[in-house]
Amino acid sequence: AKEDGRNTIRFFNPEMQAVVDAHARMEIGLRETLQSGGFRLFYQPQVDRHGRLAGAEALIRWPGADGRMISPAEFIPLAEDTGLIVQIGQWVLSTACAQIAQWQQAPATRHLSIAVNVSARQFHQADFVEVVHRTVEAAGIDPSRLKLELTESVILGDLDETVARMNQLRALGIQFALDDFGTGYSSLSYLKGLPFAQLKIDQSFIRDMTQDEGSEIIVLAILSMSRALGLEAIAEGVETPTQREFLRLHGCEFYQGYLFGKPLPIEAWGDFLAT
Ligand code: C2E
Ligand code: CA
Ligand code: CA
Ligand code: CA
Repeated sequence: AKEDGRNTIRFFNPEMQAVVDAHARMEIGLRETLQSGGFRLFYQPQVDRHGRLAGAEALIRWPGADGRMISPAEFIPLAEDTGLIVQIGQWVLSTACAQIAQWQQAPATRHLSIAVNVSARQFHQADFVEVVHRTVEAAGIDPSRLKLELTESVILGDLDETVARMNQLRALGIQFALDDFGTGYSSLSYLKGLPFAQLKIDQSFIRDMTQDEGSEIIVLAILSMSRALGLEAIAEGVETPTQREFLRLHGCEFYQGYLFGKPLPIEAWGDFLAT
C-alpha cells in the first residue's frame, strides 16, 4: 500500500482496493444519513412469561437507496471504527427516550421500557454519563424505563471505569442488561461487581438448544446462575413454541424473538399495543 497524497491508501491488489473503496463510500453514506436524519429506529417487542408486553429493544435501520434496509451488522462495525457510532448512538438514545416519553403519556403503555444498544466506544466517551443524564432529562422520562444493553467488549475495555460509570447511571435510575451473554469471557467474579439487572441469553444458544445438548446445558446453567445472582434472564431469538415452552419450564422470565414479533417501526406496532 502507498499513500496517493489525498490521505487514501491505494492498494495494488484490486480486491483489497474494492474493499477500501466500499468502506469509504459507506462512511460517506453514514455521515450523510446522520446529517439528513435518515436513520430509522425499529422496535422489537419483549414479553414476560405470560406473553404480556414488557417493553422493546430499539434496533437501528439504514434505508438504502433501493428502499431495502441495510443491516446494522453491516454498518455498525464501520461506524465503530470511524467513531461515527458516537453520534449515531446519541441519535438512537434520544429517539428511544422520545418514544418512552410518548408511552409514558398513556396509562396502558406507561410501564413499558426500551432497551438501547451501547457500543464500547460510545460508553467510554468521557462525557457519556453526562450526555445520557441530559438526554433523559430533556425527554422528561422516568429513567428506570431506559435500559442500556452492554456487551462484554464494553466491560473488558476498562473494568474500573465501567463499574464507576454504571454505578453513576444506576444512581440516576437507569437499568442495564448484559447482551449476548454466554458468547464471551463472562466470569462470575466481575458479574457480581457490576449493577446489571438482566442477562440476555445469546440467540445462538436458543437456536441450538433443542437440538444440541451442549447449548441446552449452557441455557440451563445461565438460567440457574441468573436466579442465584438475583438477575432477570431474557432469551433472545425465540422463534418456536417449543423453545418458549422449554425456557418457560426452566424459569426464564422474559422473551424476545420472531415468535412474538419482528423489529418494526412503532407505527406498525398497533396490534401489540392494543393488547
Ligand atoms: P443484537 O443486539 O444482538 O440484536 C438482536 C438481533 O437479533 C437483531 O438483529 C434482531 O433483529 C435479531 N433477532 C431478533 N429476534 C430474532 C429471531 O427470533 N431470530 C433471528 N434469527 N434473529 C432475531 P439486527 O436488528 O440486525 O441487529 C444486529 C446487531 O446490530 C445487534 O445485535 C446489535 O449488536 C447491533 N445494533 C443494532 N442496533 C444498534 C444500535 O442502535 N446501536 C449499536 N451500537 N448497535 C446496534
Ligand atoms: Ca442487543
Ligand atoms: Ca444480543
Ligand atoms: Ca449481537
